[in-house]
Amino acid sequence: MDLLSHILSGLAISTVIVSFSKVSKKHKAVILFSGALGGGFPDFDVLSHWSQFDTTFGKFFELDMPGFQIYHSKRWYSHHAFLHSLTAAALIAGLIGCVIYLFKRKEKTFKQSFYDSRYIMLAFFLGFCVHLLEDMPTPTYAWGGVNFFWPSGVYFGGTGEIWWWNNYDLFLIILSVILINALVLIVRSYVKFNARIISTLILFSGVSLYLYQIKTRPFDFNYQKAEHGKVFWEYEQKSKAIQKDILGERLYGIMVEFDKHVPLWF
Ligand SMILES: [Zn+2]
Repeated sequence: MDLLSHILSGLAISTVIVSFSKVSKKHKAVILFSGALGGGFPDFDVLSHWSQFDTTFGKFFELDMPGFQIYHSKRWYSHHAFLHSLTAAALIAGLIGCVIYLFKRKEKTFKQSFYDSRYIMLAFFLGFCVHLLEDMPTPTYAWGGVNFFWPSGVYFGGTGEIWWWNNYDLFLIILSVILINALVLIVRSYVKFNARIISTLILFSGVSLYLYQIKTRPFDFNYQKAEHGKVFWEYEQKSKAIQKDILGERLYGIMVEFDKHVPLWF
C-alpha cells in the first residue's frame, strides 16, 4: 500500500490514543507525530531499491547482491522482511523509549521515563502494526505478504485483494477518521463529554468501512513476480477503473489531480 495512506493511518490511530491521554498539548502533538512515524517506518526497507544503494550501503557492508535483487528477495533486510514484523515494531518502540530517557535522565528514573512516554511508544507501535496489516491484502508478487513474526520465516498476506496504490477510497476513509477525531478533540477542549468512546467508535466505523471496501473489490489483483511484466499495466488500469466506479467521476477526478501532486507512488 502507498506510503501516504500508511502515515495517515498511524496518525488516525494516534488521534484515539490522544483522546485517552491526559497530557499537555505538546505531549499530544508528540503522540500524533509518533503514530504517523510508526505508520510510515516499515517502508524504510525500500532503501535497497534506491539507485545509489550499491555504491553506498552495498559497498560499505560488502553485500554480495545488488540492491535491486535484495529488495525483491527474502533476506532479513529485504522489503517486507524484518522491518515489516511485530518484532521490529516492539524493538523500535522500545528504542524510542530509551532515546526519550536519554534526554530526561537528569529528571526521571528509567522506569518513570518509560511510564511517562507510554502513549508515545504505543502510538508508534500501533501505527507500525497497522502498516503491516495494510500491506497484507496487496498482491503476492515477490514476497507473499509480510514477515509478520520475524525471525520466523513465514510470510502472512499477499492476498491481492487490493492494488499496490491508488486505493483512493481507503485513503478517504482514513482521512475522514482523522478529520472527525480532530474535530472531536477540538470540541472536547470546550465542552465536557466522553471523547474516548466517540473517537474509538469513529475509528471502529472507519476500520469496518475499510474492510468492507477491501472485501468487495470486484477483481482479484493477485499475481506472482514472474507475471509482473505481463499483468502490471492491466491491473493498474483495472484498479483505477474500480476507483472511478466507487467514487464517481467528479471525486475520482479530484483524487487523480491530487495524486499528480503527491511526489510518491499514491
Ligand atoms: Zn510496507
